[in-house]
Order: sequence, then structure tokens, then C-alpha cells
Amino acid sequence: MTSEPPQLDILAIAAHPDDVELSVGGTLLKLAAQGYKIGILDLTCGEGGTRGTPEIRAAEATAAAEILGLTVRENLDLGDSHLWVNEDSRVQVVRALRRLRPRVLFTQYWDDPHPDHAHTSQLVREAAHVSGLAKYDADFGLPRWRPSGIAYFLFSRTVAPTFIVDISSHFDRKWQAIYAHASQFHNPQSNEPQSRVSTPQFLREMEARDRYFGALIGGEYGEGFFVREALNVDDPVALLTRPMNLYS
Ligand SMILES: [Zn+2]
Repeated sequence: MTSEPPQLDILAIAAHPDDVELSVGGTLLKLAAQGYKIGILDLTCGEGGTRGTPEIRAAEATAAAEILGLTVRENLDLGDSHLWVNEDSRVQVVRALRRLRPRVLFTQYWDDPHPDHAHTSQLVREAAHVSGLAKYDADFGLPRWRPSGIAYFLFSRTVAPTFIVDISSHFDRKWQAIYAHASQFHNPQSNEPQSRVSTPQFLREMEARDRYFGALIGGEYGEGFFVREALNVDDPVALLTRPMNLYS
């Protein structure tokens, strides 16, 4: 596709500054421990959230990036609750992909009740494709780049994951990264208005989801991913003899 080497192995792209941590923070920690170069691209500053301010949220995102061991974290500021797939948003994502040159993308699943999440999913898929077209946004001067693959992280309760990453060894640190976004979550001392995300129940739901995905592979905690395209597998024996659910 291009002679430029990749800068990043994985770029996780999501709408709001805590989405990646909640969804695949454990996987990013596991991959960082294996030496992969990882980045997060937040598409909005989270200014539409019930609690916190853009300044507070930016500081929290920086703190979480350090906990996750990221190489880079950037924010395109495309407008919380106003995130659309249009020419401007697509060009912004393409320029980020061409600068950061990730081999693999993680992003949000398209069937999600929050429109920003659903639009992120479509935006990333479209941008990843047109980023590989030499004449798209050529005047800006960045060489084309197309990531090799996209895995969607799963919030959905209706989709069976394509694969699950066992994050049991990284679960505690994942939660440190989540709690770095302190303005968003349950805090008995806070005087800000309550939101669904700031209830104790929300974090219990998040933990239950990780436990559920972990249980599907016979582990303690897991994170689920969905892949649209067929996977090219060299060794089905190695793939199918990994520890997995013994009750299927
Ligand atoms: Zn979100």
C-alpha cells in the first residue's frame, strides 16, 4: 500500500474519553505488556456528559493514558452528542490515520443506542477505507495508509463475540484507568447531577460484563470483540485447542 512503516500497532478509536477504557482497557494493557505500540483517538471531548468539563476530562484522559502505557492519545474534538459521518469528520479521521499509521484498529460496534457510538463505528470503517485511496485528500500531503483490520469492541448484548481476550491479569489496572475518569463515576461527595454513568450500578454492570465475557472462555475476566471480515488463520489446531468454555 505504501512504503511508510507503521507508527502504531493498534489504534483504539471511540466517541468519548472514557469509552476505550471501559470497553478494551484490559486488552490494551495486555498488548502494551507484549511490547505493542498503542494509541487512543478520542473523537470528542465529552463536553456533553452530565458531569465534568472538557478541561477536567482532558486531564483525566491524560492520566488514564499513562496508566494504560499508551504511546499517543489524541482528541479530534468533533462535538459530543453531535458526531456525524460527513466529509469534515471523515477527513479528520483519515488525516489521523495517515499520521499515526496503525496496523490494526479497535472501535465501537455499530448497533449501539448512543448515536455517537454508532456513528463512530461507521465513520472509522469509512475512513479506514478511503485513507487507502491515493487521491483522497491528496492536497493535504499525507501519504495514503490503510489499516490491515478492524475489530469492534462489544457493548451489545445481542451479538456473539468473534473472539474474547482474557484480561484477568490486567483487570485491576484497567479499573485504575477507568477511575482516572473520576468526574464521570460514582462519588458520594459530588454535588453534580446524577447520571446513569455516575450510579454505583453502572460500574457493577461494567464489571459484570467483563466477568461474563471471561466466563465464556473459562477465565475470570474478558473483553469481547467482533470482526466483520473473515479471519485468515494459519493454524486452526492452535486456535481451537486454546483453553475455552468447557460447557459448550
Ligand atoms: Zn461513549
